[in-house]
Amino acid sequence: MFEKLGLVLLSDLIRFFPRAYNDYSHVVSVAEAPENTPVILKLSILSEPALAFFHGISLLSCRATDGRDTLMLKWFNMPYQKGRLHLGDTWFVSGKVDRKKGTAVINPVLWETLPGIVPVYPTTKGLKQPAIRNAIGQAFERIDPVELADELPPALRLRYGLLSCEEAYRELHFPTETERLKNAQRRLDFENLLFYLIAIEMKKRSLSVGTGIAFNTESALEGFTAGLGFTPTGAQVRAMKEIAADMASPRPMNRLVQGDVGSGKTAVAAFALSVSARSGYQGAFLAPTELLAEQHYKNLSAFFPDDCALLTGSMSTAERNTALKKIAEGSVHVVIGTHALLENAVTFKKLGLVVTDEQHRFGVRQRGTMAQKGIRPDMLVMSATPIPRTLAMQYYGDLDISVIDELPPGRLPVKTRFITARKRKEMYDYLVSEAKNGNRSYVVCPYIEPPEEESAVSVTSLYEELRKRYPETAIGILHGRMPNEEKTAAMEAFRNGEISILISTTVIEVGVDVREANVIVIEGADRFGLAQLHQLRGRVGRGDKQAYCFLLSDSGSETAHDRIQTLTETNDGFKVAEKDLEMRGPGDYFGVRQHGASFEGLLAGFTDPKLLSSVKEAVAEIMDIPTVENNALVEKAEEIYCKSSTIVMN
Ligand code: ADP
Ligand code: MG
Repeated sequence: MFEKLGLVLLSDLIRFFPRAYNDYSHVVSVAEAPENTPVILKLSILSEPALAFFHGISLLSCRATDGRDTLMLKWFNMPYQKGRLHLGDTWFVSGKVDRKKGTAVINPVLWETLPGIVPVYPTTKGLKQPAIRNAIGQAFERIDPVELADELPPALRLRYGLLSCEEAYRELHFPTETERLKNAQRRLDFENLLFYLIAIEMKKRSLSVGTGIAFNTESALEGFTAGLGFTPTGAQVRAMKEIAADMASPRPMNRLVQGDVGSGKTAVAAFALSVSARSGYQGAFLAPTELLAEQHYKNLSAFFPDDCALLTGSMSTAERNTALKKIAEGSVHVVIGTHALLENAVTFKKLGLVVTDEQHRFGVRQRGTMAQKGIRPDMLVMSATPIPRTLAMQYYGDLDISVIDELPPGRLPVKTRFITARKRKEMYDYLVSEAKNGNRSYVVCPYIEPPEEESAVSVTSLYEELRKRYPETAIGILHGRMPNEEKTAAMEAFRNGEISILISTTVIEVGVDVREANVIVIEGADRFGLAQLHQLRGRVGRGDKQAYCFLLSDSGSETAHDRIQTLTETNDGFKVAEKDLEMRGPGDYFGVRQHGASFEGLLAGFTDPKLLSSVKEAVAEIMDIPTVENNALVEKAEEIYCKSSTIVMN
């Protein structure tokens, strides 16, 4: 169970952050206890505990008093508590006071002494809070003190009034008082933020070294839009102008284009590629999946005839060699590819621009690798992961940001519905009737094969089910375990309408653009993150027809329903992101599980301007004064951020 929570080593336990705290340091009376808020009471037992059973549930109850008022204590399925309850005994009792049917506390916790501030940990089924607290207490006794050694030198701690690392962690798990607990959290946030900002500062300093390419951008925008099949939106024009200004300047461009799914980022990327091509430079366009690389290749080939090359991992040796040759000779100016482009064998004649699509799928080092294939090429990264702007600026450190906050005209917002099991068949009937009218639908399942223990819907099981029920409908499948040619063929068949219903896994999540698809069904929607569901939903509603997103879930969990509800209420990626942050916590949101705790602290730091400014001051000094201690901090920051690809930072 501990392993499920990612707790394997003693140091994991110590670095396991409580989710919340209950302040049980002051006893309240029954009369003054607020409803439904965790409180601690001091009660004596007034009646013999009674144990009753009904429908396989046991209920243990007894009456208790704080000297003035009485209430009931009730435990469901905890008959063993009975042995602790003796008439006349006094206990500290924590829980929430419920006044719905008389005054009661349901499943209260009994304490012999006043517990003070009690941490509440994230947990998993079957693992109780006291067991976690107990394990953490033991970890402190048994851990090698070296593991608790301080990363921050004493002088720095003194100057900023920071607790030592060990003191801070002890306070975090066994708080003594509110003020000191705050200090402990501040100390840990300080450390996280410090290393992060050192890493950013290093990156900034290394980037400002040397000049890059000054591209010719004269009448580039006019030329580009003339050949585009549509009129760019105001937001697209703004982004392209910002890019043009960056590219014209000899300072290497470092720009992030942020725009919700479907906002038309590809056209903006194509513009940058056209600028570099015009000036005789090569531009590389990195995509995170083969499907997406192939799609970009197809679209850009129409735009840059005979001037594009595609490189992916699944190409035959002959195809690959041809592509490598073209890239090395410089006979093509636009190079599209997956991670395969990063390999040493890939050399460019004259690389001037690197565009990374869906940048959150790539690590820091990967983009660095690309940059080294040219001489200070301009860098453009694109992301649909909507991060609140202020956060984005900090998160991406030194990147300039263009925001595309406008969708192409004529788009109708996707209508999102929550579908229950009862309506499932009716919904598939609808998909099939739509197919007869020439419309196309995606159906996304959480698994390829049915998982062993659960009754979840999988690509193969659904394929069988639908094929039997609707034999006359063209249904296809697409998932990551299919050979690449089959994947491409399935996507092609869906694109040109030979397949009307495409059952797939989340391989279609990023970037896939088929305008005729106007329905997406997501089976087991509760198994996906909100941001991911939003991305998936973005696959439809790209044409001018009304599009629908149907979310299916058989989960009885309230939070699951709550999350799904959010999507039915808004189409705005930023709102979805905020909700996601709120519900899941930032570590999980960014998918940075490895850094878990430290990343949460990092975000906490950004919301505290006072902390941020002290840390910035400390960073400036550390970077400017190369003492042994300061250099050690810089190295540590490098170790944490620059050598891992779990956190994306340019
Ligand atoms: P994303 O930002 O999610 O990468 P895409 O670049 O894939 O979005 O664009 C989504 C769809 O919208 C594409 O089919 C594209 O051709 C179309 N599109 C982009 N910009 C415009 C525009 N200004 N007017 C009309 N259609 C557009
Ligand atoms: Mg895209």
